Amino acid sequence: MTVCEVCGNDYARGFEVHTDGEVHAFDSLECAAQLLAPTCENCKCRILGHGMEAGGRYFCCAHCARIRGVSELADSA
Ligand SMILES: [Zn+2]
Ligand SMILES: [Zn+2]
Repeated sequence: MTVCEVCGNDYARGFEVHTDGEVHAFDSLECAAQLLAPTCENCKCRILGHGMEAGGRYFCCAHCARIRGVSELADSA
């Protein structure tokens, strides 16, 4: 039995995410993303895939990083 931390849903098949020594409980990936996924500093979208990090700043793609003046990042794709 897991009570979702984000929406409070009591879901029998919920799951836990362990991060930074903390345990978070969720009923869905969407709720987990809402709490845990970083947001792109430029476009504010949730970073669910391979985001990019530069000095503690998060971006969804190299394009957004460049707009914010971070030029050393490049998409690996
Ligand atoms: Zn939830
Ligand atoms: Zn972005």
